[in-house]
Amino acid sequence: MKHIAILGSTGSIGTQALDVIRWHPDEYAAEVLCAGSNVELLIKQALEFKPNAVVIADETKYNTLRDALSNEEIKTYAGAEAMSDVMNMESLDMVLAAIVGFAGLRPTLKAIEAGKTIALANKETMVVAGGIVTDTAARHHAPILPVDSEHSAIFQSLVGEFSPVEKILLTASGGPFYGRSRESLEGVTLEEALKHPNWSMGRKVTIDSATLMNKGLEVIEARWLFDVPAEKIQVVVHPQSVIHSMVQFEDGSVKAQLGIPSMKTPIQYAFSFPKRVSSPLPRLDFAKYGQLTFGEPDTKTFRCLDLAYSAIAKGGNMPCIMNAANEVAVQKFIDGHIRFLDIADFVERRMQTATYIAKPSLDDLFETDREVRNSEQ
Ligand code: NDP
Repeated sequence: MKHIAILGSTGSIGTQALDVIRWHPDEYAAEVLCAGSNVELLIKQALEFKPNAVVIADETKYNTLRDALSNEEIKTYAGAEAMSDVMNMESLDMVLAAIVGFAGLRPTLKAIEAGKTIALANKETMVVAGGIVTDTAARHHAPILPVDSEHSAIFQSLVGEFSPVEKILLTASGGPFYGRSRESLEGVTLEEALKHPNWSMGRKVTIDSATLMNKGLEVIEARWLFDVPAEKIQVVVHPQSVIHSMVQFEDGSVKAQLGIPSMKTPIQYAFSFPKRVSSPLPRLDFAKYGQLTFGEPDTKTFRCLDLAYSAIAKGGNMPCIMNAANEVAVQKFIDGHIRFLDIADFVERRMQTATYIAKPSLDDLFETDREVRNSEQ
């Protein structure tokens, strides 16, 4: 039995992880559930899964949480610090890092420092602090298993391989606006941007998919997870999202992992690794697809992908600057303050103006994040 903490249990990844636990109650238990502010759903989850502890980041919701669970033997906590502290719990075997954005960095690092196995969905953690995270994981013998579907596919393609990787082929659906011209994107609405053709996900990652920033974040995530330079990571547009990514080796062979587009498969693989367990999901029906197609990303229209390549080339705190700027820009777009095409311009401007640090400490990264969020330019 694996005892799992879910950071972000009320989100898209978190709720799908709980479905996986429902499928396999003899294999996995939800030991700790952590949410941001959705106290109603957290209470519902706690009553069903009976975890050892629950944490709500929003401290104003604590009384509601405590009162609703007062008849249960479930410890209740509130606040960001408590969320990090519970990562030390002895009984935890694994932590699913599924908070969205920079907020996931601190508790994930705490779990790594506690030597827990990490199932990593929160890609921003790797983007912002990939070097620090991988060094800390090595020092504390904390394995990091990817949950992002592309990285899970790469990871699965590398199992049993000892030879160097020649190239990573990172597939991208292209998002809802694939094939559209820049002019035609001038007035796109939030609703249109949230209509992803293949995946149902949280809002932030869905907007990131529409701008291709998601792919940029994934390039940086792959660079750190697999220790492969960004020049060896090629983005291939594959609108059907059936091939979840590929690895090319020096003999020219290419290995891939395929499946229906469902995040439950990579979540479950991270839980079950190194074995596989059964899944009730529908199987891939090749005849239904007829053909699988491939293309190149349009980086002139979707500029965020190139911004991510330039951030990783510059190094230091630049990916952290880019990530913070992107989180702010996406929120501004969701709130109706900027247009879709302004997101890339906003991110680029912050990358040009924020204080650059070549060798940032963890504290520097927190300061960088603060600086970019508070900047008025
Ligand atoms: P959602 O927006 O659906 O969920 C985010 C979760 O994080 C919620 O549980 C939310 O809590 C919690 N949260 C938000 N802010 C805080 C905070 N300050 N402190 C603690 N918890 C917080 O996001 P997704 O599930 O879509 O994405 C999660 C991560 O996984 C992202 O990094 C994303 O890029 C990555 N990912 C997601 C995929 C998907 O299919 N959804 C695919 C691949 C990667 P609450 O709702 O209670 O406020």
